Amino acid sequence: MTEKVKNLIVGCGLSGMTAAAELAARGERVLIVDRREHIGGNIFDARDGQTGITVHRYGPHVFHTNDEKVWNYLSRFTDWHYFMYRVKALIDGREVNIPFNLDSLHRVFGRKTAETLEEKLVCRFGFNRRVPIGELKNADDADLRFLGQYVYEKVFAGYTAKQWGMSLAELDASVGERVPVYTGRDDRYFHDKYQAVPDRGYTAMSARMLDNPLIEVRLATDFRDVRGKISYERLFYSGAVDEYFDYEFGRLPYRSAEIVFVTRDCEYAQSGPQINYPENYDFTRSVEYKYYLDERSDKTVVSYEYPQAFAEGKNERFYPVPRAENEALYRHYADRAAALQNVYFFGRLGDYRYYNMDEAVRRALDLIEGVK
Ligand code: UDP
Repeated sequence: MTEKVKNLIVGCGLSGMTAAAELAARGERVLIVDRREHIGGNIFDARDGQTGITVHRYGPHVFHTNDEKVWNYLSRFTDWHYFMYRVKALIDGREVNIPFNLDSLHRVFGRKTAETLEEKLVCRFGFNRRVPIGELKNADDADLRFLGQYVYEKVFAGYTAKQWGMSLAELDASVGERVPVYTGRDDRYFHDKYQAVPDRGYTAMSARMLDNPLIEVRLATDFRDVRGKISYERLFYSGAVDEYFDYEFGRLPYRSAEIVFVTRDCEYAQSGPQINYPENYDFTRSVEYKYYLDERSDKTVVSYEYPQAFAEGKNERFYPVPRAENEALYRHYADRAAALQNVYFFGRLGDYRYYNMDEAVRRALDLIEGVK
Protein backbone atom coordinates (compact mmCIF):
# COMPACT_ATOMS: atom_id res chain seq x y z
CA MET A 1 0.00 0.00 0.00
CA THR A 2 1.34 3.43 -0.79
CA GLU A 3 1.70 5.92 1.99
CA LYS A 4 -0.06 9.24 1.31
CA VAL A 5 1.28 12.66 2.29
CA LYS A 6 0.24 16.17 1.45
CA ASN A 7 3.73 17.66 1.05
CA LEU A 8 6.87 15.64 0.48
CA ILE A 9 10.15 17.54 0.72
CA VAL A 10 13.34 15.92 -0.48
CA GLY A 11 16.49 17.24 1.17
CA CYS A 12 16.74 18.46 4.73
CA GLY A 13 19.23 21.24 4.03
CA LEU A 14 18.60 24.94 4.49
CA SER A 15 16.29 25.10 1.46
CA GLY A 16 14.20 22.07 2.41
CA MET A 17 13.97 23.12 6.05
CA THR A 18 12.79 26.61 5.10
CA ALA A 19 10.09 25.11 2.88
CA ALA A 20 9.06 22.70 5.64
CA ALA A 21 8.85 25.45 8.26
CA GLU A 22 6.81 27.66 5.94
CA LEU A 23 4.33 24.97 4.96
CA ALA A 24 3.87 23.92 8.57
CA ALA A 25 3.42 27.54 9.63
CA ARG A 26 0.39 27.72 7.38
CA GLY A 27 -1.05 24.57 8.87
CA GLU A 28 0.02 21.97 6.33
CA ARG A 29 1.49 18.57 7.04
CA VAL A 30 4.98 17.89 5.73
CA LEU A 31 7.17 14.83 5.39
CA ILE A 32 10.83 15.70 4.81
CA VAL A 33 13.31 13.00 3.84
CA ASP A 34 17.07 13.05 3.57
CA ARG A 35 19.45 10.26 2.72
CA ARG A 36 22.00 11.45 5.27
CA GLU A 37 21.69 10.60 8.94
CA HIS A 38 21.54 14.16 10.17
CA ILE A 39 19.43 17.25 9.59
CA GLY A 40 20.79 20.48 8.11
CA GLY A 41 22.38 19.26 4.88
CA ASN A 42 25.67 21.01 4.31
CA ILE A 43 25.15 23.59 7.06
CA PHE A 44 25.38 20.78 9.63
CA ASP A 45 27.72 21.51 12.51
CA ALA A 46 28.56 19.61 15.68
CA ARG A 47 30.73 19.97 18.75
CA ASP A 48 34.08 18.28 18.41
CA GLY A 49 34.24 15.48 21.01
CA GLN A 50 37.68 16.30 22.33
CA THR A 51 37.65 20.10 22.49
CA GLY A 52 33.96 21.03 22.48
CA ILE A 53 34.60 23.42 19.60
CA THR A 54 31.73 23.73 17.10
CA VAL A 55 32.96 22.58 13.70
CA HIS A 56 31.23 22.71 10.31
CA ARG A 57 31.39 19.22 8.83
CA TYR A 58 30.96 20.39 5.24
CA GLY A 59 33.19 23.45 5.37
CA PRO A 60 32.83 27.01 6.62
CA HIS A 61 29.41 28.64 6.65
CA VAL A 62 29.21 32.26 7.69
CA PHE A 63 25.79 33.77 7.28
CA HIS A 64 25.69 37.18 5.59
CA THR A 65 22.86 39.12 4.01
CA ASN A 66 21.37 42.46 3.15
CA ASP A 67 17.95 40.85 2.84
CA GLU A 68 15.91 42.04 5.83
CA LYS A 69 13.19 39.52 5.19
CA VAL A 70 15.58 36.58 5.27
CA TRP A 71 17.41 37.93 8.29
CA ASN A 72 14.16 38.41 10.23
CA TYR A 73 12.94 35.03 9.11
CA LEU A 74 15.93 33.05 10.37
CA SER A 75 16.01 35.16 13.53
CA ARG A 76 12.81 33.38 14.54
CA PHE A 77 14.82 30.19 14.91
CA THR A 78 18.06 31.41 16.43
CA ASP A 79 19.83 34.18 18.26
CA TRP A 80 23.02 35.28 16.58
CA HIS A 81 26.65 35.62 17.39
CA TYR A 82 27.66 38.64 15.33
CA PHE A 83 30.81 37.84 13.49
CA MET A 84 32.52 39.90 10.84
CA TYR A 85 34.43 37.42 8.71
CA ARG A 86 38.04 38.13 7.87
CA VAL A 87 40.09 36.11 5.42
CA LYS A 88 43.79 36.26 4.59
CA ALA A 89 45.64 34.67 1.72
CA LEU A 90 49.22 33.49 2.00
CA ILE A 91 51.04 35.21 -0.86
CA ASP A 92 54.81 34.94 -1.18
CA GLY A 93 54.89 33.87 2.46
CA ARG A 94 52.91 36.87 3.74
CA GLU A 95 49.34 37.01 4.97
CA VAL A 96 47.41 39.48 2.86
CA ASN A 97 43.82 40.74 3.26
CA ILE A 98 41.26 39.14 0.97
CA PRO A 99 39.43 40.80 -0.75
CA PHE A 100 42.71 42.31 -1.91
CA ASN A 101 42.44 45.92 -0.66
CA LEU A 102 44.58 49.03 -0.25
CA ASP A 103 46.36 47.54 2.76
CA SER A 104 47.10 44.41 0.72
CA LEU A 105 48.81 46.65 -1.84
CA HIS A 106 51.13 47.98 0.84
CA ARG A 107 51.83 44.45 2.10
CA VAL A 108 53.09 43.17 -1.22
CA PHE A 109 54.64 46.21 -2.93
CA GLY A 110 57.21 48.79 -1.89
CA ARG A 111 55.88 52.10 -0.65
CA LYS A 112 56.27 54.05 -3.86
CA THR A 113 54.64 51.46 -6.08
CA ALA A 114 51.84 50.89 -3.58
CA GLU A 115 51.13 54.62 -3.31
CA THR A 116 51.04 55.04 -7.08
CA LEU A 117 48.66 52.10 -7.47
CA GLU A 118 46.49 53.26 -4.60
CA GLU A 119 46.14 56.70 -6.15
CA LYS A 120 45.26 55.26 -9.53
CA LEU A 121 42.78 52.79 -8.10
CA VAL A 122 40.93 55.37 -6.05
CA CYS A 123 40.87 57.95 -8.88
CA ARG A 124 39.67 55.43 -11.42
CA PHE A 125 37.10 53.48 -9.36
CA GLY A 126 36.42 55.65 -6.29
CA PHE A 127 37.14 54.95 -2.63
CA ASN A 128 35.56 51.90 -0.97
CA ARG A 129 34.42 50.27 -4.20
CA ARG A 130 34.28 46.62 -5.21
CA VAL A 131 36.10 46.12 -8.50
CA PRO A 132 35.77 42.77 -10.30
CA ILE A 133 39.13 41.25 -11.14
CA GLY A 134 38.14 41.05 -14.83
CA GLU A 135 37.56 44.79 -14.95
CA LEU A 136 40.94 45.52 -13.41
CA LYS A 137 42.71 43.18 -15.81
CA ASN A 138 41.20 45.10 -18.73
CA ALA A 139 41.68 48.61 -17.34
CA ASP A 140 42.77 51.31 -19.78
CA ASP A 141 45.75 52.25 -17.59
CA ALA A 142 48.85 50.03 -17.86
CA ASP A 143 49.65 50.19 -14.11
CA LEU A 144 46.11 49.09 -13.24
CA ARG A 145 46.34 46.30 -15.79
CA PHE A 146 49.60 45.25 -14.17
CA LEU A 147 47.88 45.17 -10.77
CA GLY A 148 44.95 43.22 -12.24
CA GLN A 149 47.32 40.65 -13.68
CA TYR A 150 49.24 40.47 -10.39
CA VAL A 151 46.12 39.84 -8.30
CA TYR A 152 44.82 37.39 -10.88
CA GLU A 153 48.01 35.35 -10.72
CA LYS A 154 48.65 35.62 -7.00
CA VAL A 155 45.13 35.38 -5.58
CA PHE A 156 42.92 33.68 -8.15
CA ALA A 157 44.88 31.47 -10.54
CA GLY A 158 46.20 28.81 -8.17
CA TYR A 159 43.21 28.82 -5.82
CA THR A 160 40.70 28.53 -8.66
CA ALA A 161 42.69 25.74 -10.35
CA LYS A 162 42.49 23.73 -7.12
CA GLN A 163 38.92 24.67 -6.26
CA TRP A 164 37.33 24.07 -9.66
CA GLY A 165 39.90 22.14 -11.66
CA MET A 166 39.82 24.89 -14.30
CA SER A 167 40.71 28.55 -14.72
CA LEU A 168 38.54 31.52 -13.85
CA ALA A 169 38.19 32.26 -17.59
CA GLU A 170 36.40 28.91 -18.05
CA LEU A 171 33.85 29.74 -15.34
CA ASP A 172 31.07 32.31 -15.35
CA ALA A 173 32.32 35.75 -14.38
CA SER A 174 30.00 35.60 -11.36
CA VAL A 175 32.37 33.15 -9.62
CA GLY A 176 35.34 35.56 -9.57
CA GLU A 177 33.05 38.50 -8.84
CA ARG A 178 32.23 36.96 -5.45
CA VAL A 179 35.69 38.12 -4.37
CA PRO A 180 36.46 41.58 -5.81
CA VAL A 181 39.43 43.90 -5.39
CA TYR A 182 38.42 46.48 -2.81
CA THR A 183 39.52 50.10 -3.12
CA GLY A 184 39.38 50.81 0.60
CA ARG A 185 40.78 49.67 3.93
CA ASP A 186 37.80 47.68 5.15
CA ASP A 187 39.27 44.20 5.62
CA ARG A 188 36.00 42.29 6.10
CA TYR A 189 35.36 39.43 3.67
CA PHE A 190 31.72 40.41 3.20
CA HIS A 191 30.23 43.87 3.27
CA ASP A 192 26.66 42.87 4.05
CA LYS A 193 24.69 44.60 6.79
CA TYR A 194 24.06 41.37 8.70
CA GLN A 195 26.89 38.93 9.33
CA ALA A 196 26.68 36.27 11.99
CA VAL A 197 26.61 32.61 12.93
CA PRO A 198 23.77 31.06 14.96
CA ASP A 199 24.81 31.43 18.58
CA ARG A 200 24.23 27.73 19.34
CA GLY A 201 25.26 26.55 15.92
CA TYR A 202 23.48 25.73 12.67
CA THR A 203 22.26 22.35 13.84
CA ALA A 204 20.40 23.88 16.77
CA MET A 205 18.86 26.42 14.40
CA SER A 206 17.91 23.59 12.03
CA ALA A 207 16.22 21.66 14.86
CA ARG A 208 14.15 24.74 15.69
CA MET A 209 13.10 25.13 12.06
CA LEU A 210 11.81 21.57 12.06
CA ASP A 211 10.25 21.75 15.52
CA ASN A 212 6.59 21.65 14.55
CA PRO A 213 4.17 18.77 15.12
CA LEU A 214 3.11 19.05 11.49
CA ILE A 215 6.65 18.20 10.30
CA GLU A 216 7.87 14.62 10.18
CA VAL A 217 11.58 14.16 9.47
CA ARG A 218 12.84 10.85 8.07
CA LEU A 219 16.61 10.57 7.91
CA ALA A 220 18.72 7.87 6.26
CA THR A 221 15.92 7.77 3.68
CA ASP A 222 16.89 7.99 0.05
CA PHE A 223 14.19 9.44 -2.19
CA ARG A 224 15.07 6.82 -4.80
CA ASP A 225 14.05 4.09 -2.32
CA VAL A 226 10.70 5.65 -1.40
CA ARG A 227 9.82 6.90 -4.87
CA GLY A 228 6.61 5.18 -5.88
CA LYS A 229 5.96 4.06 -2.30
CA ILE A 230 4.86 7.47 -1.06
CA SER A 231 2.25 9.43 -2.95
CA TYR A 232 2.06 13.16 -2.46
CA GLU A 233 -0.06 16.10 -3.46
CA ARG A 234 3.07 18.18 -3.91
CA LEU A 235 6.74 17.35 -4.09
CA PHE A 236 9.39 19.93 -3.20
CA TYR A 237 12.70 18.61 -4.43
CA SER A 238 15.98 20.17 -3.28
CA GLY A 239 18.14 17.24 -4.36
CA ALA A 240 20.17 17.19 -7.56
CA VAL A 241 17.95 17.84 -10.54
CA ASP A 242 19.90 15.52 -12.85
CA GLU A 243 19.54 12.66 -10.38
CA TYR A 244 15.75 13.17 -10.24
CA PHE A 245 15.60 12.55 -13.97
CA ASP A 246 17.96 9.57 -13.81
CA TYR A 247 20.69 11.51 -15.63
CA GLU A 248 18.61 11.38 -18.78
CA PHE A 249 20.62 14.10 -20.53
CA GLY A 250 23.93 13.27 -18.83
CA ARG A 251 25.43 14.21 -15.48
CA LEU A 252 25.68 17.79 -14.29
CA PRO A 253 29.11 18.33 -12.74
CA TYR A 254 29.39 19.31 -9.08
CA ARG A 255 32.43 20.10 -6.97
CA SER A 256 33.04 18.66 -3.58
CA ALA A 257 35.94 18.58 -1.15
CA GLU A 258 37.54 16.33 1.35
CA ILE A 259 37.69 18.25 4.60
CA VAL A 260 40.35 17.09 7.01
CA PHE A 261 40.02 18.19 10.63
CA VAL A 262 43.15 18.45 12.74
CA THR A 263 43.21 19.05 16.50
CA ARG A 264 46.24 21.04 17.57
CA ASP A 265 47.66 21.23 21.05
CA CYS A 266 47.83 25.02 21.24
CA GLU A 267 45.32 27.74 21.99
CA TYR A 268 45.33 29.26 18.50
CA ALA A 269 46.94 27.84 15.38
CA GLN A 270 46.46 30.72 12.94
CA SER A 271 46.09 34.49 12.96
CA GLY A 272 42.40 34.46 12.07
CA PRO A 273 39.47 32.23 11.12
CA GLN A 274 40.40 31.55 7.50
CA ILE A 275 43.63 31.45 5.54
CA ASN A 276 43.54 30.85 1.77
CA TYR A 277 46.43 29.22 -0.08
CA PRO A 278 46.53 30.28 -3.71
CA GLU A 279 50.13 29.07 -3.93
CA ASN A 280 51.71 25.79 -2.83
CA TYR A 281 49.82 23.17 -0.81
CA ASP A 282 47.08 20.89 -2.12
CA PHE A 283 44.38 22.39 0.09
CA THR A 284 42.60 25.65 -0.75
CA ARG A 285 41.96 27.01 2.72
CA SER A 286 42.35 26.31 6.41
CA VAL A 287 39.65 27.29 8.86
CA GLU A 288 40.06 27.61 12.62
CA TYR A 289 36.60 27.16 14.06
CA LYS A 290 37.00 28.49 17.59
CA TYR A 291 37.06 32.00 16.13
CA TYR A 292 33.49 31.60 14.87
CA LEU A 293 31.68 31.47 18.22
CA ASP A 294 34.65 32.75 20.20
CA GLU A 295 34.84 29.40 21.96
CA ARG A 296 37.46 28.70 24.62
CA SER A 297 39.71 25.66 24.82
CA ASP A 298 43.43 25.11 25.38
CA LYS A 299 43.36 23.17 22.11
CA THR A 300 42.10 24.17 18.70
CA VAL A 301 40.57 22.53 15.62
CA VAL A 302 41.56 23.50 12.08
CA SER A 303 40.10 22.12 8.85
CA TYR A 304 41.92 21.80 5.53
CA GLU A 305 39.93 21.58 2.31
CA TYR A 306 41.03 19.40 -0.59
CA PRO A 307 38.68 20.07 -3.51
CA GLN A 308 37.50 17.13 -5.58
CA ALA A 309 34.98 16.38 -8.28
CA PHE A 310 31.71 15.09 -6.87
CA ALA A 311 31.45 11.31 -7.19
CA GLU A 312 28.42 9.39 -6.00
CA GLY A 313 29.02 7.39 -2.84
CA LYS A 314 32.39 9.05 -2.27
CA ASN A 315 31.51 12.59 -1.19
CA GLU A 316 28.66 15.11 -1.17
CA ARG A 317 27.70 17.70 -3.74
CA PHE A 318 28.89 21.09 -2.50
CA TYR A 319 28.87 23.37 -5.54
CA PRO A 320 27.31 23.44 -8.99
CA VAL A 321 29.95 24.44 -11.54
CA PRO A 322 28.78 27.72 -13.11
CA ARG A 323 29.79 27.76 -16.77
CA ALA A 324 27.97 28.02 -20.09
CA GLU A 325 28.06 24.36 -21.11
CA ASN A 326 26.70 23.25 -17.74
CA GLU A 327 23.96 25.85 -17.90
CA ALA A 328 23.00 24.50 -21.34
CA LEU A 329 22.78 20.97 -19.94
CA TYR A 330 20.85 22.21 -16.90
CA ARG A 331 18.34 23.91 -19.24
CA HIS A 332 17.30 20.48 -20.58
CA TYR A 333 16.52 19.38 -17.04
CA ALA A 334 14.82 22.70 -16.24
CA ASP A 335 12.50 22.20 -19.23
CA ARG A 336 11.59 18.72 -18.02
CA ALA A 337 11.06 20.08 -14.50
CA ALA A 338 8.80 22.88 -15.72
CA ALA A 339 6.56 20.37 -17.49
CA LEU A 340 5.80 18.48 -14.28
CA GLN A 341 2.66 19.16 -12.26
CA ASN A 342 2.95 19.70 -8.52
CA VAL A 343 6.70 19.06 -8.45
CA TYR A 344 8.91 22.00 -7.53
CA PHE A 345 12.70 22.14 -7.76
CA PHE A 346 14.71 24.51 -5.60
CA GLY A 347 17.94 24.90 -3.65
CA ARG A 348 21.55 24.79 -4.82
CA LEU A 349 21.12 21.34 -6.29
CA GLY A 350 17.52 21.55 -7.51
CA ASP A 351 18.14 24.85 -9.32
CA TYR A 352 21.81 24.14 -10.10
CA ARG A 353 22.68 27.60 -8.75
CA TYR A 354 25.60 28.70 -6.58
CA TYR A 355 23.28 30.21 -3.95
CA ASN A 356 24.58 31.73 -0.76
CA MET A 357 22.64 30.72 2.33
CA ASP A 358 20.48 33.83 2.31
CA GLU A 359 19.63 33.32 -1.36
CA ALA A 360 18.65 29.72 -0.67
CA VAL A 361 16.30 30.86 2.10
CA ARG A 362 14.83 33.61 -0.07
CA ARG A 363 14.27 31.21 -2.94
CA ALA A 364 12.46 28.74 -0.66
CA LEU A 365 10.33 31.49 0.92
CA ASP A 366 9.32 32.83 -2.49
CA LEU A 367 8.62 29.35 -3.79
CA ILE A 368 6.28 28.42 -0.94
CA GLU A 369 4.56 31.79 -1.08
CA GLY A 370 3.82 31.19 -4.75
CA VAL A 371 2.37 27.72 -4.19
CA LYS A 372 -1.20 27.96 -3.03
N1 UDP B 1 38.86 32.81 -5.01
C1 UDP B 1 40.20 32.76 -5.27
N2 UDP B 1 41.08 33.06 -4.26
C2 UDP B 1 40.68 33.38 -3.02
C3 UDP B 1 39.30 33.41 -2.74
C4 UDP B 1 38.41 33.11 -3.77
O1 UDP B 1 40.61 32.46 -6.39
O2 UDP B 1 41.53 33.63 -2.15
C5 UDP B 1 37.92 32.49 -6.12
C6 UDP B 1 37.76 30.98 -6.28
O3 UDP B 1 37.52 30.69 -7.64
C7 UDP B 1 36.55 30.72 -5.44
C8 UDP B 1 35.69 31.93 -5.76
O4 UDP B 1 36.64 33.00 -5.85
O5 UDP B 1 35.92 29.51 -5.76
C9 UDP B 1 34.62 32.24 -4.76
O6 UDP B 1 35.16 32.34 -3.46
P1 UDP B 1 34.26 32.17 -2.15
O7 UDP B 1 35.08 32.51 -0.98
O8 UDP B 1 33.00 32.93 -2.35
O9 UDP B 1 33.96 30.60 -2.18
P2 UDP B 1 33.08 29.67 -1.20
O10 UDP B 1 33.26 30.17 0.20
O11 UDP B 1 31.67 29.73 -1.71
O12 UDP B 1 33.72 28.33 -1.41
